[in-house]
Amino acid sequence: MSATIIDGRAVAAKVRAQVALDVAAFVAETGVTPGLATVLVGEDPASAVYVSMKRRACAEAGIADLHRHLPADVPEAELIELLTELNADPAVSGILLQLPVPDHLDGATLTGLISPDKDVDGLTPISVGRLVRGTPGLRPCTPAGVVELLDAHDVPLEGAEAVIVGRSDLVGKPLVHLLLQRNATVTICHSRTRDLSAVARRADVLVAAVGVPRLLGADAVKPGATVIDVGVNRTDEGLVGDVDFDAVREVAGLLTPVPGGVGPMTIAMLMRNTLTAATLQR
Ligand code: NAP
Repeated sequence: MSATIIDGRAVAAKVRAQVALDVAAFVAETGVTPGLATVLVGEDPASAVYVSMKRRACAEAGIADLHRHLPADVPEAELIELLTELNADPAVSGILLQLPVPDHLDGATLTGLISPDKDVDGLTPISVGRLVRGTPGLRPCTPAGVVELLDAHDVPLEGAEAVIVGRSDLVGKPLVHLLLQRNATVTICHSRTRDLSAVARRADVLVAAVGVPRLLGADAVKPGATVIDVGVNRTDEGLVGDVDFDAVREVAGLLTPVPGGVGPMTIAMLMRNTLTAATLQR
């Protein structure tokens, strides 16, 4: 039996439409328009594309686009000054420093300067602490998008065996906590995991966030499992995920494609986080 393919574009469009409605209601109630300050340093073409997609999503959602662009050789002190100014500006609900930043700057340290209440990427140490404690706060967009996709398909999480492959600060580690909070039994794998396929095969919900094209094949998937592929790998054959799509679709119950699976969810969740930030600040 062939897996049902999860349409991430459709789920993301639904989230974005709901955020637009919620933003309109927020503006009507408070007279305040949520605003997102994307901060781009330099001319990296991939970063420029990501930022322009985020700005377009703001316009669609009724969120004010408060973009700032700084030259690649901007002194660190100037960037710190900008982040300080944005932290204090009541028109700015959310701040996103687009990573990577040029080599003379330290992206993690600079991200840490963003006010946790405006940290729409959910990556500052305080946001991480709030996530681990399960207290209200802003959650990282990509793992939050994974959970949204699971919920959109009514995938049971309570008591489920969830296996995450990849332990990055951006995806794998935050997802552990989001799934724990939903009472899944969570295992996290990485490059030193012994017999990856055997561990992955235990999963009712398998999430791959690795960055190795087609690492996980049919032998890593329990029949009927839900498989979420976060990986985005550029190959000669185009974009592929960390899951061998053609082989795994014959075994899995639900499966995300690449592209068109998790990818579109990230920006949708960023829009939701910006509204959440505006709400938290009220
Ligand atoms: P990362 O920081 O490079 O982390 C990769 C993780 O995979 C590490 O924990 C690493 O283990 C593990 N790993 C590497 N090779 C492995 C192997 N052979 N077996 C098992 N584990 C292995 O990557 P990331 O930032 O999480 O991104 C992962 C993928 O998701 C990339 O393809 C990225 O482009 C994609 N991504 C997509 C989105 C989206 O919006 N769709 C967002 C973010 C990332 P160690 O810790 O032991 O080194």
